Amino acid sequence: MSPARIAASLAACLFVLSAAAEALSEAALAEARALRERALADDTAYELVRSLTTEVGPRLPGSPGDARAVAWSLAKLKALGFSNVRAEPVTVPRWIRGDARAEIVAPWPQALAVAALGGSVGTPDAGIEAEVVPVGSLDDLKAQPRERIEGRIVFFTARMERSRDGAGYGKTVGPRGSGAAEAARLGAVAMVMRPAGTSTSRTPHTGAQRYSGGVPPIPAFALSNPDADMLEQQLASGLPVRLRVASTSRWDGEAQSANVIGEIPGHGRNDEVLLLGAHLDSWDLGTGAHDDATGVGIIAAAAKLIGESKRRPRRTIRVVFYANEEFGLSGAKAYAATHGDSIDKHVLGLESDLGAFRPYGLRARVAPDRLPLVRSIQSVLEPLGIAYHGTEASGGADVGQLRELGLPVMDIVTDAAPYFDLHHTANDTFDKVDPALVRLNVAALAATAYLAAEAEDGFGRLPVASKPAQ
Ligand code: ZN
Ligand code: ZN
Repeated sequence: MSPARIAASLAACLFVLSAAAEALSEAALAEARALRERALADDTAYELVRSLTTEVGPRLPGSPGDARAVAWSLAKLKALGFSNVRAEPVTVPRWIRGDARAEIVAPWPQALAVAALGGSVGTPDAGIEAEVVPVGSLDDLKAQPRERIEGRIVFFTARMERSRDGAGYGKTVGPRGSGAAEAARLGAVAMVMRPAGTSTSRTPHTGAQRYSGGVPPIPAFALSNPDADMLEQQLASGLPVRLRVASTSRWDGEAQSANVIGEIPGHGRNDEVLLLGAHLDSWDLGTGAHDDATGVGIIAAAAKLIGESKRRPRRTIRVVFYANEEFGLSGAKAYAATHGDSIDKHVLGLESDLGAFRPYGLRARVAPDRLPLVRSIQSVLEPLGIAYHGTEASGGADVGQLRELGLPVMDIVTDAAPYFDLHHTANDTFDKVDPALVRLNVAALAATAYLAAEAEDGFGRLPVASKPAQ
């Protein structure tokens, strides 16, 4: 590049930076820094997590715990001083876990720790006994001849890799979602899997699975990692391995749940909304502490602290506790259906659904000319150890649904490695929640949301129907 062109692009850069700086006044930046520091000394979120996990507990969609969680949310948001607190009805499917058992019958009998996958049908009372066929992946299964699978129990063996970015989850969650359906297509009588999760305890990771039309639903189970090891060790003998599985899981129609919403009204542009999302439902093996009671606590505390600022932001902060994320995003779809008409009044969405672990990045999917504004926001997060982390933000499972309608999104990127040790297991309980890390997440989210709600021009729009990442 010639010196003249360097000078020209430098000038363009400075112009863009100064435009972003204009969008955020020095007073707004100072307020966000003060908010960040207040959040680092505030335990509102931690207390909400304690209360939700202790006083409500597991929140399987459509269960009594789910209904109690809706009532809990309405009471807490009112007590925290939110405006327009309401429950918007959402119809959710109801699944009953029942009991699940698995045992190796031969060559060396052993009981295995197992959990039904969410949505699984049960077995006959006597259970199902058959020979086990190991497969590495969905593609591996599909490459098998029917006679190798028919009448047998398919065992998915792929192990989730543990990493800070959680990328291993996306690579192992496929068999959990559709492994039973694909196995049934080849005549399998049941499916078991190494879990989509990294716990080394004898605690299976559950999660949603779906049947597909045209094939019979077969029972589907997750083992714990040590129990998957046991099954592999017996298979390594070369002897036929027979497994018996039994479960009383069943579907039980539909139930009423709700998205619970509360707002901190803006000053001046209060018809415009900065959306903060987390999901209220949880799996039932633990108490849904990191998935997603921490998200509920973090977004509520961040909004409350913003509401206590001396200098309130222009736009309204809306928190949404979504119904039934786990079983098919019922709440996110209901929100999009109800509020899709006003999507242009939503300026940005942020979600907290990766537990309360160490934040290290700010990722933003916004109109390209708004990236300098993102950099300006990130500068306030720098003392928290949060670096700019590129443009591949997803918005999360729930808020990400609105990306299809053009809503810009940001992610506070956190350490996913410890999250997937606990995710959907009996170990996802309050004792695993570190108050200092909760405060860090609240500080990051509060400062980001404050500045995003205050920025003069917002974040533009995304192309409509850009598919959200799941
Ligand atoms: Zn989950
Ligand atoms: Zn979640």
